[in-house]
Amino acid sequence: MLKNGITYMHEHTTIDLSEVKNNEDCKLDVFPETVREFKKLYSKGVRNVVDVTNFGMGRNINYVQKVSAESGINIIFSTGFYQDEYYPIQVFRESKEQLAERMIREIMDGIKGTGVRAEIIGEIGTSYNKWTETEKKVFEAAVIAHRETGKPITTHTSIGTVGHEQVEFFKKKEVDLGRVVIGHVDLTGDADYILKMLKEGVYVEFDTIGKESYMPDKVRAKMLKKIQEAGYIDHVLLSMDITRKSHLEYKGGLGYSYLLDSFIPLLESYGITSESIEKMLIKNPQIFMKG
Ligand SMILES: [Zn+2]
Repeated sequence: MLKNGITYMHEHTTIDLSEVKNNEDCKLDVFPETVREFKKLYSKGVRNVVDVTNFGMGRNINYVQKVSAESGINIIFSTGFYQDEYYPIQVFRESKEQLAERMIREIMDGIKGTGVRAEIIGEIGTSYNKWTETEKKVFEAAVIAHRETGKPITTHTSIGTVGHEQVEFFKKKEVDLGRVVIGHVDLTGDADYILKMLKEGVYVEFDTIGKESYMPDKVRAKMLKKIQEAGYIDHVLLSMDITRKSHLEYKGGLGYSYLLDSFIPLLESYGITSESIEKMLIKNPQIFMKG
C-alpha cells in the first residue's frame, strides 16, 4: 500500500550485483548514506519507494526495514527473478510452477521467513536484444503469480530492448496491461517506440533518470513532451534506479534527490505541465499499484 505523496517506482535500497559485475561499486550497502538521502527525499515530499530488488540480487529485508524506519519512507518490497546473467541456480533448475510458487509465497506469507510481504512482481527482465528460454520461464511464472495474487508486474528491459515483445507476451497471456509496467524504456531514446507500447495499454517507466552516459536527460524531456502531446502521460512512472555506491551524493554521484531538484525543473523548461508532473510523481503510481 502506498502512502499519499511522491513515489519513486524503481529503486534498490541495497543491492549486490558485485560478483557478476566484478565490481565492488555494485554492492550498494552504505546504510548511513542511504538513510541520509532517504531523509532528504522525505523532506521533499517523497513518501514511497518501490524497491525492485529480488531473489539473488542481495535482497536484505532487515536492512531495508531499518532504512524505512529511520527515514520515514514507506518501502514496497518485490518478488521475482531479475535477468539471465544474475539468476541463482534454482531459477534454471525449477519449473515455472515452482518459481511461481516461490513468488506466491513471498506475496502471501512473507520473504525469507520475515513475514514481510512482497507487493509487486519484478523486476523481471530480458537480455539485450534477446529473450532467453529461462527468462521466458520466469515471465510465465510471473503471470501465474499475478493471476493468483492480483499483484502488478514490473519489468526490466536491457537498454530498452525487447520492450514490444514483452508487451506482446502479456497481451497473449491476457494479462490486464494496466497492471504491467515496462521498465527502462527511457533508454530507447525513441518516443515512437514508447508510444507504441503505451497505445497497447501498459505503463512505462522512465526510471534511469540522470544516467547521462546512457541517455541525456534532455532526450528524456523531449520524449516526455511528445508523450504528453499524445495524451499518454497517465501511464508514465518515474525513478532513478540507483544501484551503485558511486550514484550516491557522498561519492560525488547525483543522489536520489536529483530527480526532484534537477530533472523536474528541466521538464518544466520543456513544457511539461505541473499537472503532468503531479501525475507521474504522485497519481499514476497510486492508480497503478492499486489496480
Ligand atoms: Zn533494471
